[in-house]
Amino acid sequence: MIIEGIKDLKYYDSEIIIKRNNIRNMFISKSKNVKTGDIQCMSNDDLKILFHLYDEEFFNFYFRRNFKGTLKFSLSTRMTSAAGKTIYSRKIKLLEESEETYEIRMGIKFFFQYYKVERDKIVSGIKTKDSLEAFQIVFEHELCHLIELHLYKESSCKKIRFKTMVHNMFYHTDVVHQLPSQKEIISQEYGLKIGQKVSFLNDGNKYNGFIYKINKRATVMVKDNKGTYRDDIGNKYSKWYVQFGKLNY
Ligand SMILES: [Zn+2]
Repeated sequence: MIIEGIKDLKYYDSEIIIKRNNIRNMFISKSKNVKTGDIQCMSNDDLKILFHLYDEEFFNFYFRRNFKGTLKFSLSTRMTSAAGKTIYSRKIKLLEESEETYEIRMGIKFFFQYYKVERDKIVSGIKTKDSLEAFQIVFEHELCHLIELHLYKESSCKKIRFKTMVHNMFYHTDVVHQLPSQKEIISQEYGLKIGQKVSFLNDGNKYNGFIYKINKRATVMVKDNKGTYRDDIGNKYSKWYVQFGKLNY
């Protein structure tokens, strides 16, 4: 350790790797759900276990000893861009110590889908070896938000204070993840791309258009004089949501 104390906590990168790996091994032995580095299923209790391991290994029981507020943990299948988030009260600056409440929410789908695309998965600047390592690193990013919120009542991973903290504590060199998104997986499975020309049938009519967006379904823009969408050169379009299986291309 270079500097002690939650505010200026700083470890050598070699220590960080050992600590992260210790947590991984202890987590696998304590979790009922996660038994390898490949996350197949998870519960809120797993997040609690992970949190206590980080408190012990990195924060020297700071939270167990000093934190008087409430911490919640949850998993979401709905998060599509952030893989984790830390939720706090808008009144954070007015709250007493005992009223501090934070919730760390993890977008579990990103980790279930970790292997769906074959390429490097870099998280916070670190090339991860499996979904559990990626999960830990996203969790570390959220822990840094938690500490920043607890200490300063505001937090932003775009700002220098956060970037310094997360680098000192966890040796993260970036604040974004490159985990496979729903969009990337679908594009790969169906071979679809934004801008691609497609057609589809509806009520016996054939419609031609191009892919404008890819989410759970494709958003297809179809030329239509009565359409309400207009491009730069005055063409009018109507917007359709089409299941991937129904597209011809
Ligand atoms: Zn962030």
